Amino acid sequence: MNLIDIGANLTHKSFEHDFQQVVDDARSAGLTHIILTGTDRTTSEAASRFSGANPDFFSSTAGFHPHVAQTFTAGEYAAVAALCELGQVVAVGETGLDFNRNFSPRKDQLNCFEKHLEIAASVRKPVFLHQRDAHADFLSILKRHRGRISGGVVHCFTDTLAALRDYLELDMYIGITGWICDERRGADLQSIVGHVPPERLLLETDAPYLLPRNLLPKPAGRRNEPKYLPAVLDKIAECTGGDRAEIARQTTENAIRLFGLERLSL
Ligand SMILES: [Zn+2]
Repeated sequence: MNLIDIGANLTHKSFEHDFQQVVDDARSAGLTHIILTGTDRTTSEAASRFSGANPDFFSSTAGFHPHVAQTFTAGEYAAVAALCELGQVVAVGETGLDFNRNFSPRKDQLNCFEKHLEIAASVRKPVFLHQRDAHADFLSILKRHRGRISGGVVHCFTDTLAALRDYLELDMYIGITGWICDERRGADLQSIVGHVPPERLLLETDAPYLLPRNLLPKPAGRRNEPKYLPAVLDKIAECTGGDRAEIARQTTENAIRLFGLERLSL
């Protein structure tokens, strides 16, 4: 097995005490590379440090999550833009719109999202996108910038088949997390995941969030880890009737193509 977790928040404080163990366990589970998600200035800087120190196993993203869009000042823009120039930073984000919880005012989210798309256009790197309950606004902004950005992934996709088709039409990649392993709220995703073309599918844990609910035996804690990525793979294979090894091979190839990881011998 040769899997790439395209989204893990390993700079989260819950990994401070056993980081190396988490990495070792991920390797034992068949992961050969992890892209660390940056969601604000602190985590983006930490993620770039981790990936700079261990570029074979880690890459990272840099950006401001829509939840913290209201803190995205001109100074933070400059900091993110500078991080995005680094070789180990392979995507701009996490960025996007979240009208589900509205932790930041919508106007700040819209502005922050557009600024990230501008950075992506100037550094010629793909975007790592988050969208929740904001499909219409998200799509219109993405459409407007699509010609200037190299590509991107709608991470932790949980929306409808119509939304999925809109993203595929823009040639976006689709990130699937352990959300799909949830027998209740993941039911819709289970029924439409087969509509994602194999060459557009990516796997992610979003650790420490979204612990897959189909793990056996059930872990003691609720912290998700990259080592549980195979549970997402298994569920996709089950839902699509696809071959597990083939989905693994294809999703790894997709991650290498989108994020420009050809430098690695994966
Ligand atoms: Zn997200």
